[in-house]
Amino acid sequence: MPYRRCGASGLKLPAISLGLWQNFGGVDVFETGRAIVRRAFDRGVTHFDLANNYGPPPGSAEENFGHILAADFHGLRDELTISSKAGWDMWPGPYGGINGSRKYLIASCDQSLKRMGLDYVDIFYSHRVDPFTPLEETMGALAQLVHQGKALYVGISNYSAELTRKAAAILASEGIPLTISQPNYSLLHRWIEPEVLGANAAAGAGTIVFSPLAQGLLSNKYLGGVPDDSRAGRQDWVRARLTPQVLTALAQIDEVAKRRGQGVAQLAIAWTLHDPRVTSCLIGARTVAQLDESLSALDNLALTPDEIAELDRVTRD
Ligand code: NDP
Repeated sequence: MPYRRCGASGLKLPAISLGLWQNFGGVDVFETGRAIVRRAFDRGVTHFDLANNYGPPPGSAEENFGHILAADFHGLRDELTISSKAGWDMWPGPYGGINGSRKYLIASCDQSLKRMGLDYVDIFYSHRVDPFTPLEETMGALAQLVHQGKALYVGISNYSAELTRKAAAILASEGIPLTISQPNYSLLHRWIEPEVLGANAAAGAGTIVFSPLAQGLLSNKYLGGVPDDSRAGRQDWVRARLTPQVLTALAQIDEVAKRRGQGVAQLAIAWTLHDPRVTSCLIGARTVAQLDESLSALDNLALTPDEIAELDRVTRD
């Protein structure tokens, strides 16, 4: 596993990190999630990404991760970089819904620490922009968490380039650097290329990109239909993204992947890492086999200019 420095900070992240948004909740099979986390760590994945609301039900992914840490990672806290976030809907009432208030962020971080059985998280994020809370308040809450020792680094997720610049400036005025930004990025969702990647780099922040497989669409499994157990098989909103254009692009990406001796998922992961401004690629996995396949993208990361141009052509048209 290569480790890359996160922006201008001293923190190193694995080129591939594992997220626990889906497949690790109370509705999922605990032992499968546990096996995935253990296998990931054994293959050098030192960064695990969580959020208050991951599950379902909300909070259960952090609880399960806490159980896994207690059972299997005794004495290994210093080998792990663990993140959490707040910003989306979490608990009923005025303080736990979608917002970026100091009240919500501080309470939510405390709850996340309890669920995971931790004294601190390595990274705490504002999970989304809240247009109704002053950015000064949201960033002030992140800075407060660092001053309290509850978070070592702070980040933002799903922020525009303009708000990234503002967030970094506010944090700097509090003496805290913006260490990391977490946007959606894949061959099928390239919105960060014009501005966000540059804004993150200019702010000294690393970029960790989520959903590099576009929720699993960028894989070989949809080339011959929709398997029942896949995310598109289970969730209508994912299936709706399997448009004729996407299926055509998938077939063309598969041609490039085959020439490289890779699967589509492996090529999709390698592609997100070809821009040196991307610190880490944040994958999900439902099985140990998927995790292994995705991590083996590391066997062939280098892309030729011709391959990059071909992938541009088939995903931008
Ligand atoms: P991916 O795009 O990597 O999708 C993961 C899904 O793709 C898996 O659950 C599985 O779904 C399928 N899959 C994974 N590996 C393979 C493979 N090798 N071959 C075939 N299919 C595969 O990422 P996610 O959308 O899960 O997001 C990853 C992480 O990013 C989250 O856990 C979270 O930490 C973070 N995230 C952050 C967000 C934010 O707002 N900050 C929003 C979303 C995610 P299937 O069931 O179809 O097999």
